Order: sequence, then structure tokens, then C-alpha cells
Amino acid sequence: MAPGDEETTVKSLLADFVRESIPEYILDGSHAIVAGDGIQKLTVNRHGDFYDVEGQVQGDDFQVYTSELSVNLKGGGVSFFCNCPDSFSGVCRHVGATALKCLRSLDEADTERPRRRRPTGATGGRPSGPTFPRSPSPSPAATT
Ligand SMILES: [Zn+2]
Repeated sequence: MAPGDEETTVKSLLADFVRESIPEYILDGSHAIVAGDGIQKLTVNRHGDFYDVEGQVQGDDFQVYTSELSVNLKGGGVSFFCNCPDSFSGVCRHVGATALKCLRSLDEADTERPRRRRPTGATGGRPSGPTFPRSPSPSPAATT
């Protein structure tokens, strides 16, 4: 099996998962997290027939949660886990955001030259220091 086939499988399974398993109101929050750079780290592990994605996700409550997605390449299912309180009731925004971010990084890998690259920096993310409020920069594209 060519390496590209696997990514295609992961992409289509993740896209199905997002479309079929994540309610729209959850997905809205997921998009907001991705747009706001809430995914601090995305780690991909391939073992056997499973393609695991782990995301460090900062939601709108400023807590960082660990979301995990496990794509079953052979069986064709996606299982998920998140350690946030919302995850008891099903798919949460963090899981959705991790799926979206992973899809996006797979897309980017696709459109660029086919070479192995990691979706995020190889070193362990940025240190968590005090966060300063960002001054709103005037961007014409972001007007509501
Ligand atoms: Zn969560």
C-alpha cells in the first residue's frame, strides 16, 4: 500500500466522523478553537491498523484538555476520548477541533510536495507563561 493511500483513508474516515458524529453546534465551537489557535499541540501516532491523533486543546474556558482520536484503518471507525467534563455527553468541541486540525494538516501535506513532515513543531510546544491580552488588530477580513 502506498503511503498516500493511508492518508486518504484517514482523511475520509475523519471527514465522515466530523460530518456524521459531531453536532453542528459543537462543530461551531471546534472551528472557533482551531481559528483561535487553540490547538497547542497535535501528535500523530501510527501503530498497527490504527492512526492515533492526540491534541492538546485549549477551549474557551482556558483549560487545556487532551483529546484523542483513534482511526481504525482496517475496520473503518473512529473512536475518541477527551478529559474535559463535556465529553461525558458525547463528542466535545475539543475532539472536533482535533479532528478538524488533523484534517487540515493532512490537506496541507497533500497540496505541498509529498515528503514526510510533522504537522506541528518537533519540540515540545511553547512554555506556558503568563498570557497577555492581545490588542485587537484591525483586520478588514474579520469584521462582523
Ligand atoms: Zn473535550
